[in-house]
Amino acid sequence: MANSEELIQFQATILASIQESVIVTDLQGSITYWNKGAEHIFGYTASEVLGKTPALLYPTLSSDALQADLQHVLAGEDYLGEWEGRRKDGTTIWIDIRTTLMHSLEGAPIGFLGLGKDVTQRKQAEMLVQQQKAALQHSQEQARRLIDANIIGVVIADNRHILEANDAFLEMVGYTQEDVKSGRLDWWDITPREFLPVSMKAVQELQEQGICAPFEKAYYRKDGSQVPILIGAARFQQDPFQWVCFALDITERKDLEQRKDDFISIASHELKAPLSSLKGFTQLLIKRLERKAQVEELPLLRKMDEQVNRQVKLIDELLDASKIQAGRLDYEEEAVDLTLLLRETIEQLQPTYPTHILALSGTAPAITVGDKDRLGQVFTNLITNAIKYSPDANTVEILLATSPQTATIRVRDYGVGIPQAHLKHIFERFYRAYDSRNKVFSGLGMGLYIAYEIVKQHGGELIVESEEGKGSTFTVSLPLK
Ligand code: ADP
Repeated sequence: MANSEELIQFQATILASIQESVIVTDLQGSITYWNKGAEHIFGYTASEVLGKTPALLYPTLSSDALQADLQHVLAGEDYLGEWEGRRKDGTTIWIDIRTTLMHSLEGAPIGFLGLGKDVTQRKQAEMLVQQQKAALQHSQEQARRLIDANIIGVVIADNRHILEANDAFLEMVGYTQEDVKSGRLDWWDITPREFLPVSMKAVQELQEQGICAPFEKAYYRKDGSQVPILIGAARFQQDPFQWVCFALDITERKDLEQRKDDFISIASHELKAPLSSLKGFTQLLIKRLERKAQVEELPLLRKMDEQVNRQVKLIDELLDASKIQAGRLDYEEEAVDLTLLLRETIEQLQPTYPTHILALSGTAPAITVGDKDRLGQVFTNLITNAIKYSPDANTVEILLATSPQTATIRVRDYGVGIPQAHLKHIFERFYRAYDSRNKVFSGLGMGLYIAYEIVKQHGGELIVESEEGKGSTFTVSLPLK
């Protein structure tokens, strides 16, 4: 057994070498001992802190709180706590503290022994988790506020079932919270057959990209009627797959669109009738004057006839667009020689547009089945557009190429081109890449919509490539029969 001097030496070595801080203060609170661990944790050497109070180390701790804690220790209880400390370099640290009362050999209290452990890392991790929890709770509250406000329909669903829906959504579809709670509200069942493809595409987008862009569909209401809806969704869980979506009832907008479509259809019919008579009379007059050889009035009448034709063409386009919209455009089914059709179209157009050479190349035999007049309408539209939108050029190139299954017709111009941002819209009804107030090019934005639909009905594809200021290429591909 070591003697008492060795024992003291032994204790001093332990105190100096442990990683925890060992700090002793006298009863007045002045630091009287400071080990290496304390130096390591707080960054002060013993000579910098001896005689000072622990307030230097814990500036955020109020002296009243400190006094209260020390009173407990004086009463004989060890104090355990976690204090926020400050290192010499100003950084914040967290110390796990145990304070014990020290006694003299006679048993009188002579000071406090504080043992401290640096728990900064653990504390920071805990604080981070708390912050994240608070942020999550905050965002959950925000989302809940939106759901409960019932301004828009909100639905949470999985692959099949509606798991949760707010009242706004249930009102749209005529179901109740009980229906949702029963777990049998299957959203595929309430999706009308014609909207299955877009709905499947949306689910695929959700699975692959996590969100699906808003799209229009309809749901069956509980009473069997349909309600048109704009819907957009975001996946919030992959496994099991769950998503949250907003839904807006767009009945009013759809009604308005329908009224507008009906108006366009009725108005174009009403405009067409008197115009057809006007055209008939003009041509009759031309024939009569020709027969009587009264040639001096003929140029004026022919100009009149031309203008009437222009208007007939516009009204026919309006009628076609209306019919397409209502799904009522009929198509003949006949064998169409595309080479011949392109030649005829060009021969017909060339005299009217002497400013441009309509150059046809690559005339291979190409027979498709479809409506000759409608396909002719597509080529006429693409070629007249190419001429109209290339006022400073003098050529439009038309190329026909075939593969065993497909005929490809390319109409290329060297004109104004189409700005990138407009490209994906130009096949939409009434869409014009140029401001309607821009008087340079007249038009109503229907030709490409009609052409696109006709080509689609023939099982083909119409695409565009264009560069602003350089020109455009429209490519039609049609299946060969
Ligand atoms: P529009 O009656 O306006 O010509 P279209 O439906 O035929 O209607 O074309 C839609 C829009 O696409 C046009 O307004 C025009 O901005 C653009 N466009 C069509 N063809 C061309 C082309 N060859 N070159 C440049 N822009 C074109």
